[in-house]
Parts: sequence; C-alpha cells; structure tokens
Amino acid sequence: MEQPVVALTVAGSDSGGGAGVQADLKAFAMCGVFGASVFTALTAQNTMGVKGIHAVPRDFVAAQLDAVLADLPVGAVKTGMLASASTVELVAEYAPRLPNLVVDPVLVASSGDRLFTDSVEQAYLTALFPHAAVITPNMREASVLTGREVSTVDDMRAAAERLGETGAKCVVVKGGHLSDSSAVDVVWRDGTVDLVEAPWVETRNNHGTGCTFAAVTAARLARGADPKSAIFGAKAYVHEAIRASADWRLGGGHGPLGW
Ligand code: PLP
Repeated sequence: MEQPVVALTVAGSDSGGGAGVQADLKAFAMCGVFGASVFTALTAQNTMGVKGIHAVPRDFVAAQLDAVLADLPVGAVKTGMLASASTVELVAEYAPRLPNLVVDPVLVASSGDRLFTDSVEQAYLTALFPHAAVITPNMREASVLTGREVSTVDDMRAAAERLGETGAKCVVVKGGHLSDSSAVDVVWRDGTVDLVEAPWVETRNNHGTGCTFAAVTAARLARGADPKSAIFGAKAYVHEAIRASADWRLGGGHGPLGW
C-alpha cells in the first residue's frame, strides 16, 4: 500500500480559521499530503484583525518538534508565524533535521497587525534563511528584511538577490497587487530570476494567501517536485483559490480562501 507523504507546519494558530496552521493543514490536505503541526503561538483573531498573541514557550515548541520528528517521516517543513526571535533561533537549531524547509517570514497579518513580539528580522537573516530551500517574503517583508523600499519589479529583483546572499537556495518575493492586471512574483534561484504571474483578482478575501502559497510549495516539495515547479504550482493553486472565493462573504474584514 502506498504510504502517506508527510509535511509539517511550524506556525501560529488563527482562531478565525483563515490563516496560520489552519490554512496550512487545509492546503496540505488539498495536495494529498498528511499534515503535522507545531504551534508557535495562539492568536485571538478574526477577519478584522489580531486581538491578542499568546506565544508558546520555547521549550514547548521544542517538545512538539521532538515529538513529531521522532515519529513521523516528515518530507518537507513550512514555517509561518514564529512570533519571537527566540523561536526563529530554535527552529534554526533544528533546521539540519528539517528537509525541504520553506520559510514564510511572516511579519504582519493581512489586516496590518504585527505578528511578532520582538525584533525577528536579524534572526531570520542570519540564523534561519541559510538553511532554507525556499523563502517567501511579500514586498513589505522584503522591505523590512533588506532595509530598502520594495515597490517595483526591479526592487523585487534586487531584494531577491540580496536575500539570496543569506544562503537561502531559492527566494520568492511576492508582488501582490503591483499592477491592475496581474499579481507578479519574482523567483530567484542560483543567480537566475524568473517572473511568475497570475491574473489579478479584485477581492477583499486575501487572508491566508501567503500561508497557503508557502504550504502548497512545501507539500509539492514533499511529493518530490523541484523547487521551481513547486513554486509555479503553488502560484496557480493560490490564484484558483482566490478566484473561487472572491465573491463569498465570511466575516467583516479580509475574508479567508475557501480552500
Ligand atoms: N500566521 C498566522 C497565525 C496569522 O494569523 C497570519 C495572518 O493573519 C499569517 C500567518 C499570515 O497570513 P497571510 O497568509 O494572510 O499573509
């Protein structure tokens, strides 16, 4: 009998169900991958915003990682909201045991609320990115991480190259709403840059899109895809999910994706 492929998300809970671990497990399941989860934080959150963050103590994040890694054949790992520099550093310590590591350096929610309790940028740059197979900052995160404004495709290229210098094997800078007609991402790998585009969909329902993109990328890597095809497939998946849920109403703010 064919055995399940396993992916692990190391991320925060979104009580509203649209982002974080809840989105990741849904995306893993949609990709036919069994999902394990290590919680780094609980957020009290809905589509309108983040009302509170309760970070999981470092030792208990470690206990969850130990339990999962001792027992399950994890084929890929996605990190989302890590909540504190100490947790970023902890995950970096485990990184040699985390295959196909996709790091979504989550700094702010779609509502604009901060999702970390202290300054995590340096820990990402020096401790975690060097271990990553793929990192997936959006434009705002790329600006914070490089200390330079990122507002054009040329800026995204420059940011991707700079972030590639950290040792990350592949960098995706997600452009989001850069033009009226398309959502463009810059994919840097081994010194070459590709643009990946999808038609722009006008909707407020974009909560969890970043999580879903990184989770699908990890799921596809776990299934044996090469990084570029994993990323291109994730882009197509997220586009379809946004399109399918563009008109539904769930909550009063940034609604989630349907799948
Ligand atoms: N992780 C958690 C727990 C979150 O609550 C959020 C956003 O609210 C994110 C990650 C990032 O969400 P998005 O995929 O919308 O960038």
